Amino acid sequence: MAQPLFEKVAFIGLGLIGSSLARVMLAENLSRHIVASTRSEKTLQDALELGLIEQGFNNPVDAVQGADLVVLALPVQATEKVLRLIQPHLADNVILTDVGSTKGSVVAAAKAVFGEHLPAGFVPGHPIAGAEHTGVHAGKVDLFANHKVILTPLPSSAPWAVNKLIQMWESAKAEVICMDVEKHDEVLAYTSHLPHLMAFNLVEQLANREDNLDIFRYAAGGFRDFSRIAASDPQMWHDIFLANKTALLKAVDGFESQLAIIRQLIEQEDSHALMGLLGHAQAARQHFNHMLAKKPFMENNNVTQQFTILPGAKTFQGKFTVPGDKSVSHRSIMFGAIAEGTTHVTGFLEGEDALATLQAFRDMGVSIEGPKNGEVTIYGVGMQGLKAPAGPIYMGNSGTSMRLLAGMLSAQQFDSVMTGDASLTKRPMERIAKPLREMGAQIQTTGERGTPPVSITGAQALKGIHYDLPMASAQVKSGILLAGLWAEGETSVTEPEPTRDHTERMLRAFGYEVKTEGNRISLQGGGKLVGTDIQVPSDISSAAFFMVGAAITENSDVTLEAVGINPTRTGVIEILKQMGADLSVENERIAGGEPIADIRIRGSRTLKGIHVPEDQVPLAIDEFPALFIAAACAEGQTVLTGAAELRVKESDRIQVMADGLKTMGIDCTPTDDGIIIQGKGKAGDWSAIFTGGEIESHHDHRIAMSFSMAGLRTSGEIKIVGTETVATSFPTFTELAGVAGLNIQVTE
Ligand code: NAP
Repeated sequence: MAQPLFEKVAFIGLGLIGSSLARVMLAENLSRHIVASTRSEKTLQDALELGLIEQGFNNPVDAVQGADLVVLALPVQATEKVLRLIQPHLADNVILTDVGSTKGSVVAAAKAVFGEHLPAGFVPGHPIAGAEHTGVHAGKVDLFANHKVILTPLPSSAPWAVNKLIQMWESAKAEVICMDVEKHDEVLAYTSHLPHLMAFNLVEQLANREDNLDIFRYAAGGFRDFSRIAASDPQMWHDIFLANKTALLKAVDGFESQLAIIRQLIEQEDSHALMGLLGHAQAARQHFNHMLAKKPFMENNNVTQQFTILPGAKTFQGKFTVPGDKSVSHRSIMFGAIAEGTTHVTGFLEGEDALATLQAFRDMGVSIEGPKNGEVTIYGVGMQGLKAPAGPIYMGNSGTSMRLLAGMLSAQQFDSVMTGDASLTKRPMERIAKPLREMGAQIQTTGERGTPPVSITGAQALKGIHYDLPMASAQVKSGILLAGLWAEGETSVTEPEPTRDHTERMLRAFGYEVKTEGNRISLQGGGKLVGTDIQVPSDISSAAFFMVGAAITENSDVTLEAVGINPTRTGVIEILKQMGADLSVENERIAGGEPIADIRIRGSRTLKGIHVPEDQVPLAIDEFPALFIAAACAEGQTVLTGAAELRVKESDRIQVMADGLKTMGIDCTPTDDGIIIQGKGKAGDWSAIFTGGEIESHHDHRIAMSFSMAGLRTSGEIKIVGTETVATSFPTFTELAGVAGLNIQVTE
């Protein structure tokens, strides 16, 4: 058995937090001996009976003898008194930590006792976990699991001490974060202390009314939710409010001025601004939930989601609207924001990336309602109406937003900074910064190697340029054209080969003239956009999974409504048709400048293997994982060449698909620029093709969704791990696939 981390731990205070940590220490065998000192004899007795400690002491001095870890788990106000008592009795090299909810006051107490030379083993800490009940019986072994623990190492803290404490808290399955003391107290003042203060205060306000009984009796869920934390221990919160007085008062002042703002909006019945404020707050709440809490948490803790697909699907049928196209969703917000008048968007993709764009424009003062069921209303502020954001603009994982916004922000009167998540922070931004500089923009890529953060100095007069794009990039092309809206004269771009033209099409839908002559696209600066209705086409890349699902399932009949059929994207339709799929494109029309149609696929005949024409490869590049599933069900061999690009997508899609296909009994050979798949289909035979098995999706959403569709023709259970990224592009995937007839379950 591994050596315990500690020889002897002494808890001073053994209530909710201390006893929960003691439970972890026991369960994980973190210390050879565990002792404690508390105020009351009763707590020690209870702790002995619970088997949490081997000895209890009334005097903390007795507890700390020979301990290599001392944990102060008592009210922060008692810290100085206890430290004064135990100081002469602490072992050399002891690790001394605490769990108090404020950190400045604990450090001040330590300095009062030890002087400026604090022990190297002193590392204050704060687990962000709790419960309304306190005391030794309230403790739980999993109290800290999936919660954050903040350590605030001081300049005097030794790395060995910090590292051991990180190990200890990670054994409790907590996520450990280090920050400095002031930052901790400020962050907690806003996120914990102020909400508690408000909850206590609201309950107090109502309790003082004469009709308080009625009020509490008829209290709706909102009151219950909001006031829940006012049931916490008054003594503890009294102590915390006083211990973190400075930071808390600052937060209270901020709250007061914000309250005055909303009060005035209601008093003046300023419905537009009130809606803007509420919408902004709601979106910020969802945004933080999405981007800041769950995803990094999942990444840091290797928490993954898994799909399980059971064999025996009988049918695959229905009419579906798959989520909106991401590229078009981004642009609808950007162009609606700078247009004059109102823009109403339907079919908006409520995925994390598009929500980041929406939040960015709210941060720049644009009033936006929604999204609700894919509907968004944007009250455009015109070409000169964007306002300076209060802080850096967070673009999440969206390279599209960052590159397009770089163009727009370069032309504004204010300075701005754009940041993003870990993966966006690695993407190249010089490719857009360089042409923008030629236009007169002051833009810096402040990360290493020309990566984000991107910092822009406003109030520059831009002039139109002609730019020969060195790479085929719709994002760079769009960023330049967007800066050109504000630039003097003509801005034009020549692209080496045609790329997605969503920007050009949508600018025209907003009434802005854009010329396309061969590979040269140009516009004149100084015009204006006029608000319009935008129907975001359903994303053909998302529709592709259902197209393939229907094509491989007997008697299926699936219609995908209002799918974007921009000619730069329709390779999947052409390839499936060549494989013999019963597929028709119906009801073609134009929406928001983009061609759309309903696509109907029926499972009436067995697909045949083909050599995929190379001219279709760029037009279907994102759809190949799904098409490989179709190829496995086809009769004969399918050969793909000229698709080396697939190896550098979110994953190496050729290798990852080949590995998964082999796991499920399909004979295939990956090549440098494609794959050869031996289809197992036989004309007129709809029996199972895949054997089932466990598939690693490498956190690539398209891999996960493609193998889900294989579940329509499987004889055994399919498990797909790492499926949490599916929510980014297709939040309703499992729901719709289930309605159509796939036996799919999600577990986390
Ligand atoms: P708790 O359940 O009430 O336990 C407090 C413990 O400290 C008890 O064992 C108590 O002894 C002892 N104690 C109280 N006053 C003392 C004094 N003057 N001198 C010596 N010992 C004393 O409280 P808790 O929830 O565990 O909170 C402990 C610390 O964790 C606090 O600093 C709090 O800020 C922090 N914290 C709490 C939460 C939460 O949600 N509860 C969350 C994060 C951090 P007796 O058992 O003899 O009364």
